[in-house]
Amino acid sequence: MKLSTYFSPIKIQTYRLEQLILREHQHLRYLSFLRQSQYWPKNRLVSFVSFRLKSLISHAYETVPYYRRVFDSQGLDVRDLRLPADIQKIPFLSSDDIRSSGKQLISRSFPLNVLQAKPTSGSTGKPRILYQTRDFKLWKRAFVRRQYEWLGYSLGDRVAVLWGSEFYFRMKNFRDKLENVLLNHVELNTFRITEDMIRSYAERLANFHPQFIESYMSAIYLLAKTVRRHGIAGIHPKAIMTTSEILFPKIRKFIEDTFECPVFDRYGANEVDGISLECPGGAGMHINLEGNFLEFVGRNGPVKENEMGEIVITNLYNYGMPLIRYRIGDFASYSNQTCQCGKTLPVMGNLHGRIHDFVVSSDGSLLDPYFFVKVISPTLVQEFKIDQESAGEVTILLKTDNFEHDSQQILEKILWLDPGMKVRFKRLDSWPISASGKYRFVESKAKIDWF
Ligand SMILES: [Zn+2]
Repeated sequence: MKLSTYFSPIKIQTYRLEQLILREHQHLRYLSFLRQSQYWPKNRLVSFVSFRLKSLISHAYETVPYYRRVFDSQGLDVRDLRLPADIQKIPFLSSDDIRSSGKQLISRSFPLNVLQAKPTSGSTGKPRILYQTRDFKLWKRAFVRRQYEWLGYSLGDRVAVLWGSEFYFRMKNFRDKLENVLLNHVELNTFRITEDMIRSYAERLANFHPQFIESYMSAIYLLAKTVRRHGIAGIHPKAIMTTSEILFPKIRKFIEDTFECPVFDRYGANEVDGISLECPGGAGMHINLEGNFLEFVGRNGPVKENEMGEIVITNLYNYGMPLIRYRIGDFASYSNQTCQCGKTLPVMGNLHGRIHDFVVSSDGSLLDPYFFVKVISPTLVQEFKIDQESAGEVTILLKTDNFEHDSQQILEKILWLDPGMKVRFKRLDSWPISASGKYRFVESKAKIDWF
């Protein structure tokens, strides 16, 4: 490459934009590292993770009262742990543990005022406060930026984000808004979404011409329906990233056909964002392994390749409040498949759901929500929802032109799987999204005892 090409005015402008605009520009150092590490040989990646685990677990034992107590009660000597294999000797951390332990989970090395408190409700809806370090936020930013780059993003590309969080938008200050303007980013709040709101968003995006859209699945689906209904032209991004909800195959196709671009599903969580993203290379979702060590666990320990298990996560960078072997409540499988893209990061399959997305059968076992997607699939584009008040009983809400026929077909398939299940059907009028803008196609209030 000629020197004059490298130092072209556009490159220099881009560099200065990064340096001047991004308050947390230190994340670019991390990004630079991550751009290389994603192609490392697997054994080098494993050594790196082993080193990070050892460092985190030693730190947790030395400075976090909760882990000191747990490790001592188990007779665990952190110096003897051979990682990552021996991580299974450490007990799980549950959402209830986080709530009940309170500040016992915070490292004594970090005064509270240097940590960012992040109130969340978790998957069970019960409030907790997570404390995160600035370094954790920088790594998170680098991981998310790397994910965008997998889809072809360059700094300055127009990005639209449809996001349903009142808290998130309330926390935005002038500088955040200025950064969005300078980076060509538009953020739209889909909390308490209405039809008029989504139409005005569609018209705004038609003028903005986003090159990338990141959205809750339900928000981009509603946007797609609005675009079709009102014939709104001009929204043709290079890629769409969906997040936070289960992405059904038919919904994915509907969105892809509407916007004439591929959809990639991303998996993140309040506790640790940017866990994995579907790769254009086709192998599945690449895990950001340098930041998150993932285990897939069933009732009898680790599951085999392509078997569904609960995701147990250890974040490698939040030294302020370490989450070690955290049962996040989501279910998926992993794969040893190599990807055409050349990245050596491990691969997981799409999410099967959160623990409360599972239907509890009449004998107390858990039914995979994807079973219901397949059963109801013929009517899927016309929307459905499953409510479960107690084990062995479900109410299925259907929006279909052929209610009697479709209900009967679905009933037969469910009874074939679980003859003891009591099934009620109700008509559904509109796409059932919650106030947060998220759509949960199964909502079970039945008591679930997974482990
Ligand atoms: Zn790949």
